[in-house]
Amino acid sequence: MLGPELEQIKQNVRQLINELPPGVELVAAAKQQTAEKIMAAIEAGVRIIGENYVQEAAEAFQAIGPRVQWSFIGHLQKNKVKRAIEIFDIIETVDSLELAEEINKRCAALGKNMPVLIEVNSGREPQKFGARPEEVEPLARAIIALPNLKLRGLMTMGPFEGDPEQARPYFRLTRQLFEQLKGLNLPGAELNILSMGMTNSYRVAIEEGATRVRLGTRIFGPRF
Ligand SMILES: *Cc1c(COP(=O)(O)O)cnc(C)c1O
Repeated sequence: MLGPELEQIKQNVRQLINELPPGVELVAAAKQQTAEKIMAAIEAGVRIIGENYVQEAAEAFQAIGPRVQWSFIGHLQKNKVKRAIEIFDIIETVDSLELAEEINKRCAALGKNMPVLIEVNSGREPQKFGARPEEVEPLARAIIALPNLKLRGLMTMGPFEGDPEQARPYFRLTRQLFEQLKGLNLPGAELNILSMGMTNSYRVAIEEGATRVRLGTRIFGPRF
């Protein structure tokens, strides 16, 4: 790996840390990145690594270890849950009771408690994962009944890749759902994470109340 490329990653992270308002957490979305590049981001101040694939995460985790928080941000298949809970500190993409129950069962076997977010399909896109807006409250009520899960908030992708302004209504809707959930005072929940915004949209997401942004390209450069 070339030094200048690693130096650029560190510079990107330092800029971001200066730019993000207090209270907004930075997740480095590390899909397709080498452990060396992830380490450069950590050296510059990244404290949360987001991974989409359990196998890829296992390799990075082996090289880097538990010095940072590992956050699962991909679509979690039931047959990967057992391995996932050995690596991750939080799962941001719970979107069905079936998945929640599987995580709970596997965590119970290890005596672990897993913080989770509900992924919201805020654009109601048929090809995307995530709970529909009207499914969020029933799913939240089901999750708080599972003893080894801790409900911490919501995550959304939002439907647009282009003009970030087009994502704003979906971030706003997700924020509204988040506030509604908080208003329910669900026992055992600790609702303080609203994960939304990627490289093209994080500024808009922060304006709409994101407490956590997930940035890949902005840190590591374009993926090929
Ligand atoms: C890849 C990815 C990101 C980061 O995307 P960029 O546009 O590269 O910043 C954020 N969240 C999820 C779920 C992702 O898969």
